[in-house]
Amino acid sequence: MNPKVVFWVPVGIRLAFLLGGAGLVWWWFGVEAGVAAAFAGVLAAVFIQLKYLYQLSEWLEKPESGRLPDGWGEWTDIFARLYRLRRDDEKNQAELTEWLARFRQAMHLLPDGVVIMDDVLFLEWCNPAAEEHLGLQQARDKGMRVTNLVRSPDFMDYLILGRYDQPLTLNFRGRKLVAHIIPFENRRQILVTHDITETQRAEMMRRDFIANASHELRTPLTVIAGFLEIAASMELDPETRAAHLKLMTEQSHRMQHLIEDMLTLSRLESVDHPMRPEHVNIPALLEQVLHEGRALSGGKHDISLEVHGGDVMGNMDELHSAFGNLVSNAVRYTPAGGAIRLRWEDTPTGVQFQVQDTGIGISPEHISRLTERFYRVDKSRSRETQGTGLGLAIVKHVLLRHSGKLNISSEAGQGSTFTVSLPKSLVSTNVEPAQAA
Ligand code: ADP
Repeated sequence: MNPKVVFWVPVGIRLAFLLGGAGLVWWWFGVEAGVAAAFAGVLAAVFIQLKYLYQLSEWLEKPESGRLPDGWGEWTDIFARLYRLRRDDEKNQAELTEWLARFRQAMHLLPDGVVIMDDVLFLEWCNPAAEEHLGLQQARDKGMRVTNLVRSPDFMDYLILGRYDQPLTLNFRGRKLVAHIIPFENRRQILVTHDITETQRAEMMRRDFIANASHELRTPLTVIAGFLEIAASMELDPETRAAHLKLMTEQSHRMQHLIEDMLTLSRLESVDHPMRPEHVNIPALLEQVLHEGRALSGGKHDISLEVHGGDVMGNMDELHSAFGNLVSNAVRYTPAGGAIRLRWEDTPTGVQFQVQDTGIGISPEHISRLTERFYRVDKSRSRETQGTGLGLAIVKHVLLRHSGKLNISSEAGQGSTFTVSLPKSLVSTNVEPAQAA
């Protein structure tokens, strides 16, 4: 219904009642009584209005302190509407607070840095990622000029040129960041920072890997191509021909090893190839590794195995590859007559496999880099012994998939000890009896 009608009709009725009452009094008791009755009626109406006005002003002073009265006449409607407005307002406030909390939480979890600045680059707000990327502290730096906090000539140039349609790549505090300024709300600007240090490192590793792998494959291929050219251009006596064929076979084996190792690494790194743990019979596996080590050594080393630990849950082929690589290294980097001890034992934190040799050892500066792909202490020695430079990288990846760790302790000329530790969570409850070989 029309709000004007809703308001004025009851007011008109009440006024008509008042005047009608006063008229009746006039008719019965005379003019003075009628005027007095009308005056009393107006006074009562004014009193009621003042009372509700006072209650309204009290409530407006502290709306949260109490309920509004029900009111009388048009006040009933006014109070009801005010009450509804207040309730809606409270609901909106609660929703707004909830949204703000969610927004704050999202900003806290965001891996990208977000800095809100005013038009003259004074810091208003930033999230934890921005604090980490740019070394800011919201509480300390609020209200300071961002150019005084992010002291980088590249960043200054970016701001001076003001070409914000292009992001800026900058090196800052040991990180590589992509920074982007987005103007908004006329007088504010958002600075977004994205950390690409790891992506760049992975990209560099990928490039290095391709360059190294191509180089490793090109060398034997060049040798084979050279011999084939000789064979095609001249008649060779049977002895030279046999020698060339032998060398070509060696080089092709080298390429084969390299490709096999590269495929193993790529399988280990592939996310589409998750590790499915199975029960691994450790004594049987280590017997096989021992057998392969002895075959590679050709009787030139004294190789022994002790098994004092339980079986594990893991991937048999991957563990075979990791343990086999460690034993193969021990054989290849230990001069003839040396000793190699293999030990499998329980430890307070799980189980460990130790390969100890009396070989050439490793200087301390190389140890931390040994698991990098194609990293070799002595390139020619590695190649001479059919090394691909990927063995320890394979060990590292197998251990990553088994939550294990590799520890290397060595000294040049003093032999080496490679220790693989696997966590208790992988130890199988089905323990095989201890064996020694
Ligand atoms: P490679 O195929 O060259 O042996 P790895 O990744 O297996 O490659 O090993 C990397 C390097 O670590 C080797 O080139 C060698 O210099 C060093 N290394 C590994 N194992 C031993 C060891 N038992 N004794 C001495 N040096 C070792």
